[in-house]
Amino acid sequence: MDTITPAQRHLNMSHIRSTNSQPETAVRSALHKLGFRFRKNDRRLAGKPDIVFPHYHAVIFVNGCFWHAHARCAKFVLSKTNTVFWQEKLTRNVVRDRTEYEMLMQDGWRVGVVWECAITGKDRGRRIRSTAEKFPSGLKRVSTNRTANSERFRCSTDR
Ligand SMILES: [Zn+2]
Repeated sequence: MDTITPAQRHLNMSHIRSTNSQPETAVRSALHKLGFRFRKNDRRLAGKPDIVFPHYHAVIFVNGCFWHAHARCAKFVLSKTNTVFWQEKLTRNVVRDRTEYEMLMQDGWRVGVVWECAITGKDRGRRIRSTAEKFPSGLKRVSTNRTANSERFRCSTDR
């Protein structure tokens, strides 16, 4: 019998997640094939971004839809037990994400987000490639204008 509740399973998965989860690895390898060079999980930056392009002054977060509470996403479904607990926990995650993005942007970094749901599913190979192929135009739009630099660049897969 399965004695693990969905809530516990999510917690267990969170421990496995931390670094090098599959979607991040897939995005990195697609970018690498396109000739991009980058650092990963840079601890010196707020939020420890998954992918860091020092040359373009840009960072990318590959966000799991559940943990980062992707709005209007089919992959973000609150469990029917401990709903309040999860709501509060995930709200804290969202607030923390926003704070970290703000800190990065204030330091002149451009922040991109790739959502897990945009790069998973049956045709994940194609979706990962097409996501990675969108990066160059966003990354190369480097401006010396601080305001322009600080806006989120266009690699977001948000809907
Ligand atoms: Zn999603």
